[in-house]
Amino acid sequence: MSSFGIDDLPVRDELRGKSPYGAPQLDVPVRLNTNENPYALPEPLVERIVERVREAARNLNRYPDRDAVELRTELAKYLTDTGKYAVGLENVWAANGSNEVIQQLLQTFGGPGRTAIGFEPSYSMHGLIARGTGTGWISGPRNEDFTIDLAAAEESIAENRPDVVFITTPNNPTGNAVPPETVIALYEAAQAAKPSMVVVDEAYIEFSHGDSLLPLLEGRPHLVVSRTMSKAFGAAGLRLGYLAAHPAVVDAVQLVRLPYHLSAVTQATALAALEHTETLLKYVEQLKAERDRLVGELRAIGYEVTESDANFVQFGRFADAHEVWQKILDRGVLVRDNGVPGWLRVSAGTPEENDAFLDAVRELKKEQN
Ligand code: PMP
Repeated sequence: MSSFGIDDLPVRDELRGKSPYGAPQLDVPVRLNTNENPYALPEPLVERIVERVREAARNLNRYPDRDAVELRTELAKYLTDTGKYAVGLENVWAANGSNEVIQQLLQTFGGPGRTAIGFEPSYSMHGLIARGTGTGWISGPRNEDFTIDLAAAEESIAENRPDVVFITTPNNPTGNAVPPETVIALYEAAQAAKPSMVVVDEAYIEFSHGDSLLPLLEGRPHLVVSRTMSKAFGAAGLRLGYLAAHPAVVDAVQLVRLPYHLSAVTQATALAALEHTETLLKYVEQLKAERDRLVGELRAIGYEVTESDANFVQFGRFADAHEVWQKILDRGVLVRDNGVPGWLRVSAGTPEENDAFLDAVRELKKEQN
């Protein structure tokens, strides 16, 4: 066997010695570690997907609609119906998961010689995609309670003059939402410093107690709201993310998107899912109730819990979070150790899965006492 490995390849300097993103995909009875929706798609929707995909399959000898016009029109309708702000086809762009949306944004507005800032702990892929696109990464501050330290954030933006500012709301992995006033203040700081692009990552917004920040797009052409069908639509396997912004932003990302990046099968499947929005949003309501139950029960057991507007809950505090993660896993429940010292994250599952998780952590608490 050759001992030739990754280090023997001429990999870019900034990638040397780094690890790829990846939550463990372990085969355990209860998996609450990747913020997926625990509910399988309802059977009538599965049937509709099959119908739509069958139709698409008949034309697979042709490239798909490069501009995904029908899909973007339907996504715009969904945003307009739920977001308290009217957007049209020209405001919406879609890609293979919001990760690809973020990558396209960084390819367009970041890149070598440019920087992006995020307020950490937050979604680690923002920094990883920055690295992958040659964009410098700046880790901005948060308060002890995981809210954004506004004064420090404004100072950091003024000092570093980043080209892209990421704001994740509700934030992952902490769960808390960012108030609109904070987003407005950060947008203004970013405009005064550069002006730079401000990307609001709303992957979990459907689970929030509050509203989407879509109305902030009015009069703010440097603002981008990014969304996904991976969470609320229960379609993580589909890989469909999208953004809403000024039409100029949609024009700009065309400069980097690969031709025909969204397959005809993806477009057909996403369109079928959008036809079933109403049913899928009912699952969201159930998950919100389960999320609130998790927060309440965890506090009753004696854990500290960060306020959550997402489909997951951050709980602690632990002297050694990884050891607790392992003990929960030993009881058949997989949660997430995001590397936030003292804290773990659990995704809201079905009531039965959440019960299994709560039983496990109740037992652990008893052991500790
Ligand atoms: N943004 C945030 C904040 C996330 O947590 C995730 C998924 N974990 C994503 C974006 C990416 O989602 P997807 O690529 O599946 O749309």
